[in-house]
Parts: sequence; C-alpha cells; structure tokens
Amino acid sequence: MGEIRLHGRGGQGTVMAAEMMANAFVFGGKYASVFPSFGIERRGSAVMAFARYADAPIREHTRVYNPDILLMLDQSLTDNPTCYEGFKAGGVIIANTKHEQHIIDLQVNQKTLGFIDAVSIALEETGTAITNTCMLGAFAKTTGLVELEDLKKALPLFFKEKILAGNLRSMERGFNEVKILQFSPSEASGAQKDLLNEQDPVVKPPTITTSLESAWADVSKNLLVAQTGEWRYRRPALDKAACKICGWCSIYCPGGCMKQEKDGYFHPDLDYCKGCGICANECPAHALKMKVEEVI
Ligand code: SF4
Ligand code: SF4
Repeated sequence: MGEIRLHGRGGQGTVMAAEMMANAFVFGGKYASVFPSFGIERRGSAVMAFARYADAPIREHTRVYNPDILLMLDQSLTDNPTCYEGFKAGGVIIANTKHEQHIIDLQVNQKTLGFIDAVSIALEETGTAITNTCMLGAFAKTTGLVELEDLKKALPLFFKEKILAGNLRSMERGFNEVKILQFSPSEASGAQKDLLNEQDPVVKPPTITTSLESAWADVSKNLLVAQTGEWRYRRPALDKAACKICGWCSIYCPGGCMKQEKDGYFHPDLDYCKGCGICANECPAHALKMKVEEVI
C-alpha cells in the first residue's frame, strides 16, 4: 500500500485532485481510497486530502501521517515545514514551485522531487490559478504510478466541455513539463525505506513543533493567528497616478488590511492580504490591478 498526502488551499481543487487520482488508480486496476481534511472553511485556507492505493482492499481509514508521497498544489505551502511532518525518508515530493531549492534546503530526505510552475500553466490553459489537474499530470510523470490515459479518463467525471478541454491541456502540460530531480541515498540520508512497498508497522501522529493554521488546527493546540498573506498568489498593485485616495479599497477589504501609509496612499499589509481581489474590483478609479506575485 502507498500513502499520499495532498496539500493545497481552499478553492484550488485539492480534494477533487485526490478524487481524480483515486479514480485513475482504479482505472489502472488498483484499489484506492481518498478523503479530505478541511481546515478553516474559507477559500484560500490550507487544506489536506489523503489518498491510498494498493493491490488489495484498503482497510486503513486514518489520516495519512507518514506519507510516501507529498503532492503540494500551492507554492506558498512548499516552504512550510509543517507540510512535511511525517514524510518518509526516501519518498517522493511533487510540488508546484519555481523554487525547488527551497524544498531541497529543508532536508526532508526525499528520493525524488518533481517541480513545476503549475500556476502559470493553469492560468494559460484554464484561465484560473487552479493547479490540481496540472499537478496530477506532474504526479503521473514523477511517480509512474498512474497512467496519463487513466487520469484523462477520470477528468470527464468532474468537468465538461470547455472546462474539461482546458484541464486536459493543463494535465498534459503538467506531465510533459514537470522537472524531476533524483537524490542519491547519501543525499536522502536517514533510514531510507523501500519506497511505496514498505509500511510503517506503527502509524505515529506527527510531532507538531510550530505554530499552525487551518487544516492542522484540529490536531494541535498551537493555533496562533493565521498570517493569511501566505494564502496569496497575487496581490493588488497600485497605480498612484490613477488613485483618488478615496479609501474605498480599505472599506471593502474583508481582512481590514488595506491601510493608508505615510505616502498618503492605501497599501495592503502583505502579512495578511490574501489576494482576494475585492479591493481591485471595488476601486472606482481602477487604480488597483491584481498581479501574480512574481511578476511584480
Ligand atoms: S479605492 Fe482605488 S482610488 Fe480609492 S484609495 Fe483605493 S486604490 Fe485609491
Ligand atoms: S486583495 Fe485587496 S481586498 Fe483582498 S485582502 Fe488584499 S488588500 Fe484586502
């Protein structure tokens, strides 16, 4: 039996990704099980989903505490050590990121790391930043556990027509464009396990060492204030020439994070701005434009 943990944010299709993945395993002749773990019930909060696959019926119904594989749908989560809790040395990570070195620097002893800029691909192919199907393509290529064709068979169970076509393209690009790094046993140090075939005899809950938000909150007493800025993949960019300094954006911002600064203009507090775009929608002067983080 192999165990997979998916990390993403509400609205990114993390749970749907796990369901599509399970369907693909079944189309490929395996048994599979899947279930979600929602955190704060809000778009943008961190969520997890768990999937298992095996050659025989699966009787395990716990969360996945010691994943063989981590599938990270959101770049902002890839720097968060909490997401790697319990990860088995010698396992596989597939991440939506342009900064693979950040993961390597965490020294979580992965044997294989697949990484891809899934946000850009999803934006190009589907017009949204929903990375799930792109990441499933990357999952298929990096692990070799499911056939791309079986994933393609799963998609029409969830999408139709134009949306289906865009997601099929996104998935194919995920498959074709993921970059894969392999690490030697010495690099992936520690008690390396026979990947995907060996199961821990005792399933231990993770040791929580850091302050946490959302999906982990129900297993931790360490819940502190969530810095919702981590949810963001885009931010409001201000055109000062157009701004009327009316303050409308600060009234509409649901997080109360648009504040007037010393320069007289309203700027978002990036620790808390979650990139929802309401301020840009409501600005009467069209002075705010939502820009993907890394092109600013
Ligand atoms: S709503 Fe628009 S015009 Fe008004 S302060 Fe905010 S950015 Fe400037
Ligand atoms: S995008 Fe605008 S409205 Fe949304 S949280 Fe950021 S500052 Fe507030």
